Amino acid sequence: MTAPLFPLFADLRGRTVLVVGGGAVARRKVAALLDAGAQVRVGAPELEPTLSEWASSGRIEYVPGVFEPAWFDGAWLAIAATDDAASNRAVASIGEERRVFVNVVDDAELSSFQVPARVERGPLQIAISSGGGAPMLARHLREQLETQFDESLGALAGLLTRERARIRARLPGLQARRRFFERVLAGPIPSLLRAGDQAAAEREFDAVLGGGRGENPVGRVALVGAGPGDPGLLTLRALRLLSEADVILHDRLVSPEVLALARRDAELVEVGKQVGGDHNATQERIHTLLVDYARAGKRVVRLKGGDSFVFGRGGEELEALHARGIEFEVVPGITAALACGAYAGIPLTHREHAQSVRFITAHCKDSDDTLDWAALAQERQTLAFYMGVAGLEKIRDRLIAHGRAPGTPFAIVENGSRPEQRVIVGTLAELPELARLHSVRSPALLILGEVAALAGKLHWFGAAPLGAASTAIAHEDLAQAA
Ligand code: SAH
Repeated sequence: MTAPLFPLFADLRGRTVLVVGGGAVARRKVAALLDAGAQVRVGAPELEPTLSEWASSGRIEYVPGVFEPAWFDGAWLAIAATDDAASNRAVASIGEERRVFVNVVDDAELSSFQVPARVERGPLQIAISSGGGAPMLARHLREQLETQFDESLGALAGLLTRERARIRARLPGLQARRRFFERVLAGPIPSLLRAGDQAAAEREFDAVLGGGRGENPVGRVALVGAGPGDPGLLTLRALRLLSEADVILHDRLVSPEVLALARRDAELVEVGKQVGGDHNATQERIHTLLVDYARAGKRVVRLKGGDSFVFGRGGEELEALHARGIEFEVVPGITAALACGAYAGIPLTHREHAQSVRFITAHCKDSDDTLDWAALAQERQTLAFYMGVAGLEKIRDRLIAHGRAPGTPFAIVENGSRPEQRVIVGTLAELPELARLHSVRSPALLILGEVAALAGKLHWFGAAPLGAASTAIAHEDLAQAA
């Protein structure tokens, strides 16, 4: 086995680095070198447009022509990025002679140093190397790490760098410093930075450093939208919060696949409302749990199906937290209407068919009194009904009574985005009967409007829509049922 490479982070500020080559690859290398503060000299017969602009504005030094050893004069490092093997070899061999480290792009054999794949968060850098043997693998790992580390890490590293002297002066012992860092990481500072509240983060930092707050940190609550079920539809931020949370309070609607992404030792608490239960009592209990866990210093994630602010009572929970002075953040999720539209092949505002889309619930307290059915019955708009399974008859009757055409297409998407997704299509006139025929179950979303007909053509996920093929049978059944 060959010896492993020795990793190092080089300070290139004000130091000359030679880049041989004037194409797109050279440009990428030059950009990274400029970021690191290097003085870049580019040698090539000609330059691609951006490099050429940098040369004329003086950002880089340009030596036109074919490679000459004199290009190395004064250089600390060199990168060969030409597509000519002979030139690359010449650069490598002169570098060897002059004891200047040379990287030949995509040629580990010829290189005396390699540039790692890296993840950057401010001053914090994670570098990955496969020794040049498997750059694809290194890149793949990099992508995975990109998703895991929040952008706020950069701000955190910056804060710790600025406060380094003060931390050392106040906590000279290594043990004490370690405990301090753990408290900083477990407390609200990372989320405050994520929320862009630098001032509050610094105040909190002072409190922890002063020993005031750190002993008994107050937890925070993140209200997180879990999307419709497919874990691929979580946001990166939701994923990170799930992997950090101490406690996750989730609804029944949140899929097991999403819950599987929680930290292994996180406490999972289902707080779903039981059908027919007392919703207000349940909601009160949820508020109490959220507050109690946060006051115990836990990192709490309140995970809801879809988006928390779309028929999710997220607002009420935030009000409860606000009233008790508990900090929170909100992470949006993909709401059922968007997910069901996408996964059933229904473009909600296809320009030929609809100018608007409405998210409606027919299930709200006294909602039928406040909904403007005449407005809903207008053409060229898409209606997405949440929690509508039980009220389909009423929806059909009112819309038709207010003038929506009985032939308006609908699609019911049951378990949207999940492996067991079903789509039932038909026309407004036969809506409740078709739903009954196919025994539609919750969770299901009703999409009504001309766009719904596109499901027949644009469906791509799971089984084809039920309806078209089975309409003949359906009509027989309907006739029998009538
Ligand atoms: N906050 C959620 C909605 C909660 S109300 C969101 O933004 O999606 C619950 C209703 O959402 C269900 O009755 C159903 O109409 C709809 N819904 C949620 N997930 C669904 C899914 N995977 N497929 C179809 N409908 C869904």
